[in-house]
Amino acid sequence: MNIPRSNNPRVVIIGGGFGGISLAQKLRKQEVQVVLLDKNNYHTFQPLLYQVSTGGLEPDSIAYPLRKVLIGYDNFFFRLAEVTEILPNKQLLKTTIGEISYDYLVVATGSETNFFGNTELEQHAMAMKSIPQSLNLRSLILENFEQALLTDEYHERDALMNFVIVGGGPTGVELAGALAEIKKGILPKDYPDLDTRRAQINLVQGGDRLLDAMSEKASEKAEKFLEDLGVQVWKNVRVTGYDGKTVRTKTDLVFETATLIWAAGVKGATIKGLDAKELIAGGNRLSVNEFNQVIGFPNIFAIGDIACMQSEEAPRGHPMMAQPAIQQGRKLGENLVRLINGKSLEPFIYKDKGSMATVGRNKAVCDLKNIRFQGVFAWFVWMFVHLFFLIGFRNRVVVFVNWVYNYIRFDREARLIIRPFKRNYDQFRD
Ligand SMILES: Cc1cc2nc3c(=O)[nH]c(=O)nc-3n(C[C@H](O)[C@H](O)[C@H](O)COP(=O)(O)OP(=O)(O)OC[C@H]3O[C@@H](n4cnc5c(N)ncnc54)[C@H](O)[C@@H]3O)c2cc1C
Repeated sequence: MNIPRSNNPRVVIIGGGFGGISLAQKLRKQEVQVVLLDKNNYHTFQPLLYQVSTGGLEPDSIAYPLRKVLIGYDNFFFRLAEVTEILPNKQLLKTTIGEISYDYLVVATGSETNFFGNTELEQHAMAMKSIPQSLNLRSLILENFEQALLTDEYHERDALMNFVIVGGGPTGVELAGALAEIKKGILPKDYPDLDTRRAQINLVQGGDRLLDAMSEKASEKAEKFLEDLGVQVWKNVRVTGYDGKTVRTKTDLVFETATLIWAAGVKGATIKGLDAKELIAGGNRLSVNEFNQVIGFPNIFAIGDIACMQSEEAPRGHPMMAQPAIQQGRKLGENLVRLINGKSLEPFIYKDKGSMATVGRNKAVCDLKNIRFQGVFAWFVWMFVHLFFLIGFRNRVVVFVNWVYNYIRFDREARLIIRPFKRNYDQFRD
């Protein structure tokens, strides 16, 4: 990898997500050599992926070059590489560009879409966990309408304009709201020769309420907002399969659709060599102690989505969200310096700042620490918080300008099929 050995201990971080970046920033100016490895050369702001999928934002505005995050850092190296195996006994990593040794390893690989072993769903459903996947979805949504124009067959046209989203968490809710706004504000103008009133947005939730990690009030309000927008919400319905045409559920309910979007779960993105059964806790996450140390490996740490730190307050680990990743990254930065200086480690304590979700224009729900609110004010708070945490000044400005423009014009100008998603429509018809 052409990285010289220095006199300082080498900390290798796998993953430049929220956790990896926060840690790297903490290690700036410390007496360590930091090597950041990521399979992408950019950081992705995942909370806004749904806006890329629905043409509200360009992908560039939610991505940020990892090298730029670390400009001016001493003794810092970035390599574009996917780590394929961890050899803890040799303190070595195998990657797509060669091998590298470490003194301290931090796994910050985040999570990946969980299809719960259903290969049929994995093959046919659309996931939304990365920018390329969001661009695929954007293209598919638009291509479906272009196809719908070409057919006289009534059922086929309806299926092309039927969007089924599985998973009633923040991602599913936000995506459903955005699609409903497109149906209302954009489709009638873009497709005057298509009866877009027949377009449907179905949100399917396995449990008995949406946003089940938030308060009941937030769930109720979000459902009401969605229904006002024309989204059909199905609760207590479990999807069992999708062959690319028909969505089957555990009940008699079926959906004929060209688009199933899977937002029903994620699991830790483990790496070969550090994935033995005894290391894994709930959600395929690495079991860590209160210092983020992987159990049984004093010089290997895990932070963010991939880490499961079980405690009395969090028996299933912390939520797989940006805040735990950021806070763990910062705390581990401090702890690594303590460790290197021979001091004892301090436990991580999560400061829960609350959670929020937006349903659409002027509609959001916020559960903050001591206060819960919904509606227009919540929507402004949601926007402010997302702008604040977005990485890069340019990105903040671009996103802000886009939001203002979209708000005033009721528009989403990034509805472009730049990189077509090659769906086989013949197969869909068969
Ligand atoms: C659609 C969506 C919406 C979300 N909305 C919200 C929200 O509103 N609020 C909120 O708090 N959270 C939200 N989240 C969750 C939040 O994005 C994650 O909890 C957070 O990104 C976790 O940070 P992380 O650092 O653990 O991992 P990530 O940010 O996922 O970063 C992991 C990094 O590791 C890299 N990587 C993975 N495997 C390898 C490998 N083998 N080799 C090299 N590099 C690798 C990846 O390329 C990536 O850059 C959302 C997630 C999604 C998918």
